[in-house]
Amino acid sequence: MTFLEEVKRRRTFAIISHPDAGKTTLTEKLLLYGGAIHLAGSVKSRKTQKYAVSDWMEIEKQRGISVTSSVLQFDYDGCRVNILDTPGHQDFSEDTYRTLMAADSAVMLIDVAKGVEAQTKKLFAVCKERGIPIFTFVNKIDHFGRNPFDLMEEIENSLGIRAVPMNWPVGINGEYQGIYDRETHTVDLFAKDETHGQQKLASTKESVDDPAFRELLGDEVHQSLIDDIELLDVAGDEFDFDRVRAGELTPMFFGSAMTNFGVKPFLEKFLDLAPSPAPRQALEKTVDASSEDFSAFVFKIQANMNPNHHDRIVFMRICSGKFEKGMSVLHRQSGKTIRLAQPQQFLATERTIIDEAYPGDIIGVFDAGTMGVGDTLCAANHKVTFGDFPVFPPEFFARVSPKDTMKRKQFQKGMTQLAQEGAVQIFEQPHSLDSFIVGAVGMLQFEVLQYRLRNEYGVEPITDSLPYSVARWVKGNVDIKQLKGLDNAMAVKDNRGRTVILISNEWQMGWVIERNPDVTFLETPPLN
Ligand code: GDP
Repeated sequence: MTFLEEVKRRRTFAIISHPDAGKTTLTEKLLLYGGAIHLAGSVKSRKTQKYAVSDWMEIEKQRGISVTSSVLQFDYDGCRVNILDTPGHQDFSEDTYRTLMAADSAVMLIDVAKGVEAQTKKLFAVCKERGIPIFTFVNKIDHFGRNPFDLMEEIENSLGIRAVPMNWPVGINGEYQGIYDRETHTVDLFAKDETHGQQKLASTKESVDDPAFRELLGDEVHQSLIDDIELLDVAGDEFDFDRVRAGELTPMFFGSAMTNFGVKPFLEKFLDLAPSPAPRQALEKTVDASSEDFSAFVFKIQANMNPNHHDRIVFMRICSGKFEKGMSVLHRQSGKTIRLAQPQQFLATERTIIDEAYPGDIIGVFDAGTMGVGDTLCAANHKVTFGDFPVFPPEFFARVSPKDTMKRKQFQKGMTQLAQEGAVQIFEQPHSLDSFIVGAVGMLQFEVLQYRLRNEYGVEPITDSLPYSVARWVKGNVDIKQLKGLDNAMAVKDNRGRTVILISNEWQMGWVIERNPDVTFLETPPLN
């Protein structure tokens, strides 16, 4: 296969959903159809739903599993499919946002009975902002749920995107018997599932006009299907990939991951429609996936997966060029040349050393601490730099210091590495060497930080909450001493030495902004 053919057959996507919509189940079923596992259920559920640190520790115990499933890869119909795994817990949504940076498309999973939920909305917004095409899978249609037309309307009203059904459930709500394919005008009737979804579901395809089929469904159900289709044809949107790409339209599918109902039709159509690796904007130029010069960016880091070895794995998404084992690349941020030895690929059940990989693929390499999230790697003669990752404004702050000052070194190392991983954001207060100011998006992040400092770095931390909830980056070179109205605020530096003001609430911040009309305050760090 040529390099271009390899690029064209890649499909790299993430599934976004509210917890419990069925993401784990659907992922398993896609693997089942992809032949990556023979009996669904062998991929252990690794999600956590309750808001407690014990859940995180549970993940920690099972890290082998959560790590091996950073990306799930299989071949189907000539496509090389990469499913990016995202954590289920809300408090790790920052992780999910970063993972979305590595996706070329997203599948938005919706529970037929619950419709668009809070977490779905947030993740949808990130995809839309990044221009990632979104496909919709309405799950759990084996249950009674909302009417499909109502769901289309809800998607439009709450997400501002029109839905174009690619297929349509056939039968009575709660007892659907099959899926109508709008392109081929055929119905996939599903055989009763005797295995509770453990094996692929048999189905028979019929033309919707077949009299035998009409008899099978009964006149009433058949007529209501014909009416629905007519309404969609007349009043619905036409499929238009440019509109999908522009975030105006989402192709919509129906099914039930648990019973396998509609999973195969979805997979096949999705792979047909989903984009292959898209061009990426670098600071210097647009990088085309078909370019043979290597480039990649780091979107995730996991340190200490094996606490005895203090290993650190950096996950990168390849944007252009072919990756070959042992190749040397330039790390843009440090200017160092790095040899990508022992590249790992993380498949459903095992990690394997890989020899080559292509744009769209994800590889993990060991790194001693040079690389951080968002960093670029590229061929030495093809210098590009992908922009900084978006940083989410922290809302919780604490001062963290080591209980035992003799352990200052381990403490600093731990804090720096965990910040590089993106577990928390760290700030430094001038003249205070023994402590860091830590910012988090959710409280659970502090607990995880404490747990990891203790267990992975052997440092007992002291954490004092700070009464701030708002952070603002100061644009440009401004002398802090000249700023007015900071009596109840704290000025700190972020990891790049940029000044950040921490203050108790928006109202107080408004007051500071008013008193310093010549200064610009930003909600997120200025991108480079
Ligand atoms: P996640 O939190 O999004 O990963 O959700 P899971 O895949 O763990 O599913 C949450 C619950 O919904 C589990 O109890 C699943 O068995 C159930 N579930 C998933 N898919 C379906 C489906 O198609 N139909 C029904 N009835 N239940 C489902």
